[in-house]
Amino acid sequence: MGQEHFKDYKIGEEIGRALDVLGYKIPTNVQARVLPYALEGKDLIVKAQTGSGKTAAYAIPICESVAWLENKPQALILTPTRELAVQVKEDFTNIGRFKRIKAAAVYGRHPYSIEKAELKQKTHVVVGTPGRVMDHIEKGTLPLAKIDYLVIDEADQMLDMGFMEQVEAIIKTLPIERVTMLFSATMPQEVVTLASSYMSDALKIDANEEFVMGADIEHSLYFVPEEDKFSLLKDVTILENPDSCIIFCGTKNRVDMVCERLADSGYGCKKIHGGMEQPDRLDAINRFKRGEYRYLAATDVAARGIDIHNISLVINYDIPLDKETYVHRTGRTGRAGQKGKAISFVTPAQDRYLHDIEALIGFHIPRLEKPSKEEVADKKNAFLEKMKTEPPIKKMKSEQLNKDIMKLRFNGGKKKKLRAASFVGVISNLEGMSAEDIGIIAIQDTLTYIEILNGKGPLVLEAMKQTTVNGKQLKVTEALDKRG
Ligand code: AMP
Repeated sequence: MGQEHFKDYKIGEEIGRALDVLGYKIPTNVQARVLPYALEGKDLIVKAQTGSGKTAAYAIPICESVAWLENKPQALILTPTRELAVQVKEDFTNIGRFKRIKAAAVYGRHPYSIEKAELKQKTHVVVGTPGRVMDHIEKGTLPLAKIDYLVIDEADQMLDMGFMEQVEAIIKTLPIERVTMLFSATMPQEVVTLASSYMSDALKIDANEEFVMGADIEHSLYFVPEEDKFSLLKDVTILENPDSCIIFCGTKNRVDMVCERLADSGYGCKKIHGGMEQPDRLDAINRFKRGEYRYLAATDVAARGIDIHNISLVINYDIPLDKETYVHRTGRTGRAGQKGKAISFVTPAQDRYLHDIEALIGFHIPRLEKPSKEEVADKKNAFLEKMKTEPPIKKMKSEQLNKDIMKLRFNGGKKKKLRAASFVGVISNLEGMSAEDIGIIAIQDTLTYIEILNGKGPLVLEAMKQTTVNGKQLKVTEALDKRG
């Protein structure tokens, strides 16, 4: 089935160009299997892990089919966590950049009023957690009449978090004529039942096989008593000297403890767990993603679904009690053809969990002997050397796309009866400009934000100081918030 290039699919020029800028050259396994059907609008039940490229597998066909002129949302994506909602929204914005697709994320503990205002404007795609999506539906702030696509992402996680009833309630409010796609890393019976109740003649795709085998991941473990875990952690980090490492712990308190003790020992470490405020969590993820910190201590729920590249080492400081979680955690390394390592700490009493994990993954995880003092001493200098050097900062993908984009702010909006079409007409008529150079337009009551693409922002900024829109001369400045 697999096609070699995205251009072999029925993907338009605008989406194709965005994929090119994002560096997506070859479709991943799940994309190669999903795209031909999703582009035809078939209902799908897809078994795929995070890290497999599943977001683009549904985002590409949805972006392709979105009618730009329609103001009401055409796709609803349900995700179990806020972090995943934000990330999926960003993926849609990136993939839909040149088609000017507007995506919004709605999730708990995010100001409702901001979301309400955003949903009032043109929004093509809404990504949200079930509770908040339901809130908007009940309050009438999320119009559903034009929804053509429903995606249920990480359905097994929704089930684990007790969201299934809400998901079902949401489905019942949606137009029946729609495409439904469900993605899940595992397929518990409840998920299969949900899928078969609300999907017509869905095609089942299993994109998991290669992944579970963990072909690019080297697995190993240490048997270690609880009280020796921290000193083993330090030894392992010295031996492995990773560029980026996630340390999974069983509870929030243990994340706090590990992160604090690492920081006390001079490690650059961030943490993420459900007890933290949302902005702190996003800040931690972004800084870790950018490579400012080499270590991230995390609980499962908080780290679930977060797309972080090039993790060289995953450490299970606490072995997961649930076998599927082992697959999720270790799948964060060894992505996209890169080699990765997963090292687990198992206390003697946890043998039975290990047994279940090995039965699931289908192989015996090699046991390692505690590193000797000499081995650790041997590697210590190289480790200290790396600790002293500032990590190279990785560019976020959206930054690459954003670098040629300038966001302009005009001091007029709906109250002055300004519309997107008026701006597009005026700006595309400026010398050297065309409609393709205009990105996302957001019209608020008294302000309008417009992205100008292809490095033409300064040109438009100058020209618009002397050009009227609907007969009005607006004040124009570069917007401070450059992101979409
Ligand atoms: P996901 O499974 O959707 O979380 O995606 C995992 C990562 O793979 C994300 O960082 C994507 O940006 C990236 N990705 C998705 N599709 C491709 C592709 N075809 N080529 C390279 N990277 C990709």
